[in-house]
Order: sequence, then structure tokens, then C-alpha cells
Amino acid sequence: MASSNHTLWENAMPERDFEVISISSDSSDEDTPSFAMSPIVTLVVGDGKVEYTAHRQLLVDKCPFFAKCLTSGTKEANTNVVTLPEDDADTVRHFIDFIYHNHVDFTKERNGFGRMKAYALAEKFGMQVWQNKLMNSLMKFWKMYFVQPAEVSWILDNIHESCPLHRLALDQFSFQAAQRFEGAVESSEREEREYHDGVDALCMKEKFSASRHVREAMRYHNDSKAIQPAEQRCRYHVHPEGETCSRKGRVRKGKDNGSRKRQRTTH
Ligand SMILES: [Zn+2]
Repeated sequence: MASSNHTLWENAMPERDFEVISISSDSSDEDTPSFAMSPIVTLVVGDGKVEYTAHRQLLVDKCPFFAKCLTSGTKEANTNVVTLPEDDADTVRHFIDFIYHNHVDFTKERNGFGRMKAYALAEKFGMQVWQNKLMNSLMKFWKMYFVQPAEVSWILDNIHESCPLHRLALDQFSFQAAQRFEGAVESSEREEREYHDGVDALCMKEKFSASRHVREAMRYHNDSKAIQPAEQRCRYHVHPEGETCSRKGRVRKGKDNGSRKRQRTTH
């Protein structure tokens, strides 16, 4: 375990670096489609009916969900108005940002919720490239900051078990429990108390398996060569069957050379 602690700190990224992520060197992702002449579609989002507009061609090119609903003779295709009553306005704003600028930017967010909600939307919309970029962003964030019990709780309530986001959050949470067990944590008494109160609340949830969590934490603790889940990018990516990042030429960036910094307890 000692060696993985070392790796953890060595690879910690400075804060300014982990927000805007681009994993792809695949030029097809960077091509700007010709959409300037395309009609404008209005998206009406959430209970508050917040309205966003976007070029129809861009929505269709970038998002399988909109490709289906805007090209099949539906009411939406005829009116260029799509209602998304169950979605969150902030999250849809990130979606618009991604389809226009091809990046993931959570600079102002000091917890994982915005990224997690965006991931859920990316999965619902069938956007694997966005999912993988959000996954990378979450991994960098959770290498710097501990996965909080409240984040795990949200995942258990909102994300299905086979989803990579569900797997990463639970795996990283267990890995970090081993870190705490070894005292490799910088945090105040208050932060520790809040964390443990959060874990107590989590253990009350039916969907959370405390025994599995402890078993996994012990496994990480006993394995001196354990690699933290947040460093195993492609393990939590989604790709067409048989493909990986490297096979598609979407190689990872080189080894992080960010400042050495201990992992933080809170955001
Ligand atoms: Zn991958």
C-alpha cells in the first residue's frame, strides 16, 4: 500500500489543471461541423422551463438522442422545440458547452455533483466521448479530493450498478478508506468528524454494502501494488466493443507532473 500512496501524491494535479480536460487526440472530435446555416432548436429544460437554443445540425451530429428525435418526423422535428422536463438546467448548459466547444469545464465546482449529473445526462444522450471526458475529469478530481459519502449516496440513488460512474465511485471510495486507515490523510478534526458522520449515514442505506466496502478497502490495504481506481482510465471508459483508448489512438496524456500534494479530505 505504501507504494500506491506514493504514486497517489506524485500524480496529484495542481488545482488549476484538473478542470478543463481533453483526452482525445482524435481529429474527428475536433472537426467543427458546418452548422451555421442550420435551423435553431429551442430546448425547454426542467420544472423552471429554462430555454436554451442550439443549432439543429450540431445537436444531430453530436448527440444520438437528438439525432433520433429531430430527424424522424416527430413533433419535435417539425417544431424545432424539444422539452426536457426531467433534466437539470445547469447540466444541460454543460451539454451545450460540450457540443459547441468540445471540452469539459467545471472550474467553479468544488464537489463532484455537477460532473456526476453531467455523466448521467451523457449516458442518457448516448454520448460516449462526453462520458469519457467527464470520467477523466472525475478521476482527476477524486485523485485530489476524497470521494464524499454524500456523493456515493447520490450515485446509489441515481446511477445503475453497471454504469462505470457507479463502479468508479465505489471503488475509489474503498481505495481511499484504506488510505484513511493508514493515516495518509491531511484533515482537521472537524473534517474527520463530518466524514465519519457521512459514512455512518451511508451505512444506513439499504443500497450500500458496508461489508463489501470494508472487504474492498482491506484488499487495497493488503496489496502493495494496488493502483488506485482513479488512475485506471480506460477501465472506466465506454468504447465500442473491442476498442480502447490506445487502439483508437486516443492515447492518454503523459504521466502527470503536477505538484506533489497530499490528498485532501474535503472539497
Ligand atoms: Zn478508454
